[in-house]
Amino acid sequence: MVLRLGSSTLCLKQQRLRSLASLASSNARLISCRSVSALAVLELKDGKLVQSSLSAVSAAHKLGSSITGFIAGSNISEPSKEAAKIRGIQKIITIENDSYDKGLPENFAPLLVSNIRKGGYTHIFAGHTTFGKSLMPRVAALLDVAQISDITAIDNENTFVRPVYAGNAIATIESSDEIKVITTRATAFPPAEYEAEGSKVLIENGVDPNSNSPVKWVSENLAKLDRPSLATASKVVSGGRGLKSKEEFDRVILPLADAFGAAVGASRAAVDSGYADNSLQVGQTGQVVAPQLYFCVGISGAIQHLAGMKDSKVIAAVNKDADAPIFQVADVGLVGDLFDTVPELTEKLGK
Ligand SMILES: Cc1cc2nc3c(=O)[nH]c(=O)nc-3n(C[C@H](O)[C@H](O)[C@H](O)COP(=O)(O)OP(=O)(O)OC[C@H]3O[C@@H](n4cnc5c(N)ncnc54)[C@H](O)[C@@H]3O)c2cc1C
Repeated sequence: MVLRLGSSTLCLKQQRLRSLASLASSNARLISCRSVSALAVLELKDGKLVQSSLSAVSAAHKLGSSITGFIAGSNISEPSKEAAKIRGIQKIITIENDSYDKGLPENFAPLLVSNIRKGGYTHIFAGHTTFGKSLMPRVAALLDVAQISDITAIDNENTFVRPVYAGNAIATIESSDEIKVITTRATAFPPAEYEAEGSKVLIENGVDPNSNSPVKWVSENLAKLDRPSLATASKVVSGGRGLKSKEEFDRVILPLADAFGAAVGASRAAVDSGYADNSLQVGQTGQVVAPQLYFCVGISGAIQHLAGMKDSKVIAAVNKDADAPIFQVADVGLVGDLFDTVPELTEKLGK
């Protein structure tokens, strides 16, 4: 499937479409004459760079262009020094202002746009996280270009690959926009590595429009995790509606996850039934993971769940229904009652 995106090609009458087509082709010529320069938006959590930002830098690296990192918030000198060590980054733009601490897109989007305009970047990358998903479409709208979401590969400076229909089709998208505003799927690009020393990287103050939107950060309620993080764990144990209750979910899934040293995940049905926190949901409307081992228990394998885990290296499933669709993607399957088999397996792993 090949889709072509131009800044305003959707929902237009024929006549406007024709004039836009000529505009798009002149843009395409413009792009090939301009040098490519990428800006990677670096997201912070507790003063540290998040891993999906390192993946966004890897994606930018594929263009073979210069890469500038972008950091905004308060107390950013440490993360800026950390960012200066990321392989492939040549310059960091920083904006020290606590209005950007929580990454509110209403504040952050005008800030980013001012700096994009000043720096003349052709490609803007951010991780496909809650922050990136909320920010980048606003940035694209302010620049009057089409946003390109959740890419998994880059063919060339204009052509990108992304899954559609819950991962059941792969679209190759060609964009004629002068500036490409892109979010990257973290599991598709290995995180950029750190150099031992990054002292040659230039750290420069960016422009701060101080747009002060009326939107304010009120509070947050974070789920406490004493296990590996779902997004980055090499092993994930997930539970579904087959667990029947929160008590059983905790009794069966948590010891198995601990025996593997794995992160805990859940299906949406398990989350909706209150068995697990919704930050643990895997799937189309939850997190996309691709660990070495994805072990799912009492999960049927609905396509919306598969969208979040089917790129895992090894998939193992326990289900009492031999016809459950999860067995079509599982490398290893055990047909049986999870309440008997999983505690037995956990015990054997502990030995
Ligand atoms: C727009 C949209 C977005 C969605 N996004 C997501 C998403 O991000 N993530 C997601 O997971 N879902 C998502 N869903 C929901 C999805 O369609 C399914 O409803 C959901 O994944 C089902 O969860 P489940 O497999 O835990 O439950 P079920 O489909 O009810 O499966 C439970 C399984 O447990 C097995 N089982 C029961 N008892 C036992 C036992 N004792 N021993 C062994 N096996 C047992 C059953 O055989 C069954 O296969 C979405 C749906 C929509 C419409």
